[in-house]
Amino acid sequence: MNNRTWDAIIIGGGIHGASLAYHLSILGLKPLILEKQFIASGATGRSSGLVRMHYDLELESRLAWISYGYFKHWRDKVGGESGFTRTGFMQFVEPEKTSSLRANIKMQQKLGIPTLSIDGEDVGRLAPNFYREDIQYAAYEPESGYADPSSCTQSFIDRARENGSGLVQNCEVVDLVIEGDHIQGVKTSQGEFSAPVLVNAAGPWAGKIGRMAGLNLPVNTWQHDTMVIRRPATLSADHPTVIDFPNSMYFRPETGGLTLVGLEDDNPIGAAPDGDTERSKPGFVERAIDRICMRIPGMDQGSLHSSHGGYDGITPDQRAILGQAGPEGFYLDCGFSGTGFKIAPAVGACMAELIVNGKAVTADIAPFAFNRFESGTLLKGKDAYENLWR
Ligand SMILES: Cc1cc2nc3c(=O)[nH]c(=O)nc-3n(C[C@H](O)[C@H](O)[C@H](O)COP(=O)(O)OP(=O)(O)OC[C@H]3O[C@@H](n4cnc5c(N)ncnc54)[C@H](O)[C@@H]3O)c2cc1C
Repeated sequence: MNNRTWDAIIIGGGIHGASLAYHLSILGLKPLILEKQFIASGATGRSSGLVRMHYDLELESRLAWISYGYFKHWRDKVGGESGFTRTGFMQFVEPEKTSSLRANIKMQQKLGIPTLSIDGEDVGRLAPNFYREDIQYAAYEPESGYADPSSCTQSFIDRARENGSGLVQNCEVVDLVIEGDHIQGVKTSQGEFSAPVLVNAAGPWAGKIGRMAGLNLPVNTWQHDTMVIRRPATLSADHPTVIDFPNSMYFRPETGGLTLVGLEDDNPIGAAPDGDTERSKPGFVERAIDRICMRIPGMDQGSLHSSHGGYDGITPDQRAILGQAGPEGFYLDCGFSGTGFKIAPAVGACMAELIVNGKAVTADIAPFAFNRFESGTLLKGKDAYENLWR
C-alpha cells in the first residue's frame, strides 16, 4: 500500500477519528487519518473528560458503559495512558425530575452499570462540603470519574499506526473525489489521497465536510467555556464529579487541588468553529464562580486558575450522527453534541464493524442514522430530562 492509497480515509484526528482508526486496524484495514492541525486540536483537546454512564437514552448509557471497560483497563486493552481517575459521580436533579432520575437509574442497573439512588444525607457523607438542602435524591456511580482525552487519542493512534494505519497532520481536506456515486478519495492541502471509504469525523467542522458530499447535515457549532479554580486549603480534599441540574453546571476535581467547572446554559450555537479558544467569553468566569459557590460554599475563598473556550458539533436532538449516508463509501461519525468523549471507544468499535462487516454488533447504532432528521424521529429518552445544553 503506497502512502497515497488506503483502505479508508478518516477526516479528523480527534478522539473519534482515533478510535475508529484503532478499531478498523484491529479488523485488518489500513486507514489514514487526515488532520488539518494536529491530533486532539479540536473539541477533544478542550474536553472536560467526564466519564459517567448516567444518560436518559438507554443507547447512550450502553455506549458509555461499553466504553467504560476501555477506560478502566486502558493499558491492557489499548496500551498507553488514558488518565482515567475514579472520583465517583453524582447526578443532581430538581425535585420534579426525581421520578425520571429513578427510572433512569433502574434502566442503567439493568444494563449492569454500577449506579444507585442516594438521598441528601448520603450526599453529605460522600461530599461533606456540598450544600445539599435542595437535594432529595441523586444518582451515584461509585466507579465513574474523568479521563484525559488527549492521552486517549494519542494511544488509539499509536496502536493504529503499529497496525499499519497512517496519520498526516497539517493536512486539510478541501474537497472530495466522487465518481458516479462512489467515493474515490479526497483533495487536500498536501495533494490527493484515495480510498473507497471516507469517514467524516470532523467534529464541529462536520457540516462543511458534509456539504462536500452533497449532504446538508444538521450539525451546528456549539461553543462551551470551562473554568478551573484552585480550592482553598479548607476544601483541599478531592470531591466527586457532579452534574448539577439545579445549578445548570457540572464540575469535577483536577489534580493539584483544582476544580474544573462548566455551565449548561448560555453555550452559543452557530458561531464559526475556528474562533478563539484561548479565552472564555466575557462574564463566563463570574457566572461559573457564582454557581460553584452555591454548591460548595467555601469556594469563595478559592482563586481562579484559568479559563478557556471550545467548540463541538451539535445536532437538533443533541445526539450523534452515525452510519452511511450520501455517496457510496461515505460515512458519518460526528455531531457528538458536547458529550462525545466518554462514548468514543464503543462508537469506534461499532463504526468499524459497520464499515468492515456491514453491521455493528458491539451495540445497535442504527437509531443514530442521519435519516432520523428527515423522518422526524429524533432521539429522546423514555424518561427524558430536558436538553442538557441550553
Ligand atoms: C469544552 C468542552 C468540554 C467537553 N466536555 C466533555 C466531557 O466532559 N465529557 C464528554 O464525554 N464529552 C465532552 N465534550 C465533548 C467531546 O469532547 C466531543 O464530543 C469529542 O471530543 C468530539 O470528538 P471528535 O473527534 O468528533 O471531534 P474533534 O475533537 O473536534 O476532532 C475533529 C478534528 O477534525 C479536524 N478537521 C476538521 N476539518 C478538517 C478538514 N477539512 N481536514 C482535516 N481535518 C479536519 C479538526 O482539526 C479536529 O481535530 C466536551 C467538549 C468541549 C468543547
